[in-house]
Amino acid sequence: MVKKLLFITFLALLFSCKETSVTTMTSASTLALLEKSKAIQLRAERVEKHMQKWQDSLDRYDNQKIAQDEVKDDEFVDIEKLSNYFVLDMKYATKDNFLKKEVYSCERCYMRGVVAKALIKANKDFMKKGYRIKLFDCYRPYSVQKKMWKIFPNPGYVADPKGGSIHNKGAAVDITLTDLQGNQLDMGTDFDHFGKEAHHAYKELSEKVIANRKLLREIMEKHGFSIIRTEWWHYNFKNKKFKISDFRWKCS
Ligand SMILES: [Zn+2]
Repeated sequence: MVKKLLFITFLALLFSCKETSVTTMTSASTLALLEKSKAIQLRAERVEKHMQKWQDSLDRYDNQKIAQDEVKDDEFVDIEKLSNYFVLDMKYATKDNFLKKEVYSCERCYMRGVVAKALIKANKDFMKKGYRIKLFDCYRPYSVQKKMWKIFPNPGYVADPKGGSIHNKGAAVDITLTDLQGNQLDMGTDFDHFGKEAHHAYKELSEKVIANRKLLREIMEKHGFSIIRTEWWHYNFKNKKFKISDFRWKCS
């Protein structure tokens, strides 16, 4: 492609020249033409290189695992492209949620790069103890927040799109723990149980459940996440100063 472009450009330059015959050209003008064509070639090579780089970055997302140090703190990243060690159970991509509706068209877990890196570290700590993080929800596009609000406009259950949710910023995750075989630990209630039993302060639970919640909380807090009072599964990352986004992931 570059060679073809170069040849055409060379011919164009040759015929746009004031001399009527090639044979009458001086060696100086031939040299000038060669210089020009060399410059054009370099430019074409630069464009091709740029296109390749762009294609590489798309491939990086579509086909390959991404090295963590390549990920910028504020970019949205698919956690499965960074690590194989999470269990995904994205409830809003199914009807198994309090809305009884699928609001995601496919199961993907995106979050900001810095959040993903912290979560991977937390997951490593859990794995050393024989557990893994199971993800119920991650980044939630703003348009999905509005959709949820339309279905269930109750601020006790869904964040009002006016202020948005930390999920809309890519800095919150809804999680639980499983053992290494994938069996979910008992946390006392299901995900999205909107009652006092899901509150952190609620203590009328078995010792095992209290210990499970404590384990989840301790390691998440160690890696920069904080709780909210009413949901044992929800964790905000310490840096929440990201903008609300409506970035949509691809399903294919
Ligand atoms: Zn949440």
